[in-house]
Amino acid sequence: MRIVLVGPPGAGKGTQAQYLAKNLSIPHISTGDLFRANISQGTLLGKKAQEYMNAGQLVPDEVTIAMAEDRLSQADTEQGFLLDGFPRNLAQAKALDRFLADRNLALDAVLDLEVPEDEVVKRIAGRRICRNDSSHVFHVTYSPPKQEGVCDICGGELYQRDDDHEDTVRKRLEVYHNETEPIIDYYKAQNLVVTISALGKVDEVTQRAMDALQ
Ligand code: ADP
Ligand code: ADP
Ligand code: ADP
Repeated sequence: MRIVLVGPPGAGKGTQAQYLAKNLSIPHISTGDLFRANISQGTLLGKKAQEYMNAGQLVPDEVTIAMAEDRLSQADTEQGFLLDGFPRNLAQAKALDRFLADRNLALDAVLDLEVPEDEVVKRIAGRRICRNDSSHVFHVTYSPPKQEGVCDICGGELYQRDDDHEDTVRKRLEVYHNETEPIIDYYKAQNLVVTISALGKVDEVTQRAMDALQ
């Protein structure tokens, strides 16, 4: 299956993507995680992305689309993929459609995670991620690690993302509303959108998503 996950920052895209990718046996591709890995490795791509991310803005399309297409071109994506955080605006959505059409492929579904803004703010405020791998995600109260500040998965140090501080979060929510939400209508016109509530426990949301994708 070829699936795009959309939803506001903090909706639980990364958390759900891990379980869905495992259940569906497809790779999880997160552009946010790819950018953060590049930043921690000090690559040129990371340097280009960092200032935009810290300001809560989108990284420019030419950089982002090239990175996403490069990742999608890898062999293990041929059976499908779960895209998390890409596309994030109409230009990226159109680029993805072209990329797939050139290979005689198309998306199967766009899963839209709906969460009220006050809940999203609580999820982001308590989010802690691992220095070694930003896909290792915890929450200080909703899913705390066994030992405070230490990643259960790899023992790495947990920290709060720079862009998870309050002023940047406000900007990211605005960017989501203005630039990302329009892609939902774009995909609705292709009959691809399935919307679910992402409230409730993590495994309940996963079950809801699996049912919706049937
Ligand atoms: P969240 O999971 O909280 O929505 P992400 O990890 O997906 O955040 O993204 C963090 C930041 O990385 C974004 O605010 C943006 O600066 C950058 N980013 C990630 N994906 C994209 C994209 N598709 N286009 C442009 N910028 C992106
Ligand atoms: P996104 O990738 O959409 O930005 P994350 O998956 O990183 O979102 O989740 C944001 C925060 O909310 C994390 O701290 C995560 O542990 C927490 N979280 C994820 N799903 C739930 C849930 N169903 N209920 C409560 N907290 C959740
Ligand atoms: P409850 O009433 O179940 O004790 P809250 O309503 O205070 O919990 O929880 C706030 C948010 O955190 C809700 O989205 C809830 O589903 C989620 N949540 C509660 N417990 C967990 C958990 N163990 N893991 C992930 N999310 C949780």
